[in-house]
Amino acid sequence: MDIVIKNARIIDGTGNPWFKGEVGITGEKIVEIDKGVSTGGERVIDADGLIVTPGFIDVHTHSDATLLRDRSALNYITQGVTTNVIGNCGLSAAPLNKRTVKDLLTLVAPDFKGDPTEMWTSFGEYLDFLKFVGTAINVVPLVGHNTIRIAVMGVEERDPSEEELEEMRELTEQSMREGAFGLSAGLIYVPGIFTKTGELVELCKVVSKYGRIFTIHIRGEGDTGVQAIKEAIEIARRAQVPLEISHFKSEGKRNWGKAQERLELIECARSEGVDVTADFYPYTFALTFLHSLFPTWIFRDGLEAIPEKLKNPTIREQLREYFRLAGDVMGISGVEDWRNVVLSNPSNPKYRGKSVLEIAGKQEKDIVDTICELVQSEGLSLGILLLWMSEEDVDIIAKHPLTMVGSDGAVVTSPKEMIHPRYYGTFTRVLGYYVREKKLMCLEEAIRKMTSLPAQRFGLKDRGVLREGNYADCVIFDPGRVRDCATIEEPNRWSEGIEYVIINGAVVFEHGKFMGKYPGKILRKMVKKNY
Ligand SMILES: [Zn+2]
Repeated sequence: MDIVIKNARIIDGTGNPWFKGEVGITGEKIVEIDKGVSTGGERVIDADGLIVTPGFIDVHTHSDATLLRDRSALNYITQGVTTNVIGNCGLSAAPLNKRTVKDLLTLVAPDFKGDPTEMWTSFGEYLDFLKFVGTAINVVPLVGHNTIRIAVMGVEERDPSEEELEEMRELTEQSMREGAFGLSAGLIYVPGIFTKTGELVELCKVVSKYGRIFTIHIRGEGDTGVQAIKEAIEIARRAQVPLEISHFKSEGKRNWGKAQERLELIECARSEGVDVTADFYPYTFALTFLHSLFPTWIFRDGLEAIPEKLKNPTIREQLREYFRLAGDVMGISGVEDWRNVVLSNPSNPKYRGKSVLEIAGKQEKDIVDTICELVQSEGLSLGILLLWMSEEDVDIIAKHPLTMVGSDGAVVTSPKEMIHPRYYGTFTRVLGYYVREKKLMCLEEAIRKMTSLPAQRFGLKDRGVLREGNYADCVIFDPGRVRDCATIEEPNRWSEGIEYVIINGAVVFEHGKFMGKYPGKILRKMVKKNY
């Protein structure tokens, strides 16, 4: 054997209690799990006092582009994550169309100068490219509805014609044939925001034919949350497709205390035979752009026009009126609520970690003048943390048996990026804070939510459980020490207590050191039947 892990407490990922034993690895696979596995390993890891589990599968990431820039994925490896599901919230890196690729770039990477269509256009070509780059972690790709819609009809605010819908169906089908594990949607982003339910039902019928999954960032997570969950369930019911509701929450002060009733919608759908699950990140605050709080009419003449527009006193007056009316829906109805909107990555250090309310108070300005001037001086990429969820709601969602863990992060490529602490700390936070400190659930249950549940959900048959014959993705950690260290002020700090990370049989992380190995696989869902 190449590696024998000895004296460990084994948590196999199924939710069953830990047991003592040894794990033997040969090549990329686990070959033996037992008591008294022969000790004749090339390498013996003594895991006395430690826990060994399957590698963590992060069901909700946006690493599609950033993995190409930093293939080591250190922010994930250091928290025990060995697999990223990419292409979430309707946005994948493929398929692309030369004619409309600019529309996609303006939305997701306005600073990017090159032309990605020179590297790939189809979904399969993108996966080939990723494979050529070679990553440390495994990748499970989804194809995004927004990306497909942009490829066919740009960012136009209208329904597709019959031909355009057919073209979208074909791109969905082609992506399934080229290895996509499912289709994702993001209905608060352009152009998902223009999309009616029926269009998604049509595309999900293709997903259903291939036995894949549909994941969705629903149309609203605040006041319109119930309606939005019902729409997602309706799509799943009509298209007969398994559904994963992404980053499940109940946001905005007026919706605190409603997590339970929202989860009951899922339970109820399941009892009627609709296969629905959800994922969550273990934090009470969200990350977005300050400009995303603005009304859509401000974006009509393009992003470049916005700073100039914000100087106009008439527009400021209209914005005041907008926030008076819509602020309620966003959970920032009163001036006081702007205390919960905290700047995340301002270039001016005096704003760091400060709330909009504090900044307005210091400058003796009203809220609208303050945010307009912040966007002007800091640019459109200014990020905010919204202290939007109640701890009780997050707890209820976290411990529900139908939820799994997803960071809603991405591979981090530079310490200057706008990030949320969840990019570095999601999984270790569940283990340290939720399991050990708050005792919300037992360790075995938390591990199930990070391993076998996501593996089953996304159709990974040979990962997510420590079992002979499966790929050797393993994490070895100290249950007494494991914890997240990333905070709002220092979101890039590595976690503690993760001792070893093994991916496809290769040790990639050991006692706080990245080993410079890239054994990750770009996984593709294979077509079994002839459709
Ligand atoms: Zn999302």
